[in-house]
Amino acid sequence: MKLPLDVNKIRDDGPREALGNSFGLVRKDKKNKAKWHRGWDLSARPGSAVYAIADGRIIHRFHNVKGYGEAIVLEFDNPKFDPWSRTCGGLQTYRKLYAVYAHLSKMLNLNSVYKGQVIGYTGTGGNALGEPPHLHFEIMLEEPLNPHSPRIDPGELFGYSFYVCEGRIGR
Ligand SMILES: [Zn+2]
Repeated sequence: MKLPLDVNKIRDDGPREALGNSFGLVRKDKKNKAKWHRGWDLSARPGSAVYAIADGRIIHRFHNVKGYGEAIVLEFDNPKFDPWSRTCGGLQTYRKLYAVYAHLSKMLNLNSVYKGQVIGYTGTGGNALGEPPHLHFEIMLEEPLNPHSPRIDPGELFGYSFYVCEGRIGR
């Protein structure tokens, strides 16, 4: 697996600190109730290249999807897939996964891609408008892109070490 940017740092600028830009019930709504953030927000100067995290296929290029702006969906083989898994559900039961790259400024017109290939460039669209520039990055277990598709913490694939230090999550 390759990380989606050259420099991958959970955003800790703007109104939220790094924790609120990581995955989970890390945000608050207007009534101060816990609210989901379903991916990572990685700081990125607009125009930063985003990379295919694995060999795969670009299956969607969305224009102006609510919240996401311009977004790419990359389908790739789940490195944690276990055909012998006896459990129902769970990451190891999914053969394919879907990486979502949102708030892009440019999406390259590609189909099959290889790990590390540039597939687009970051921007400030969707609900990132007015926020410090970043890439919103998600791993979905199922497509298509909708609010109900289950997501996992990208850390389940990439580990947590790089953002525990740089994103100052945990101790
Ligand atoms: Zn986000």
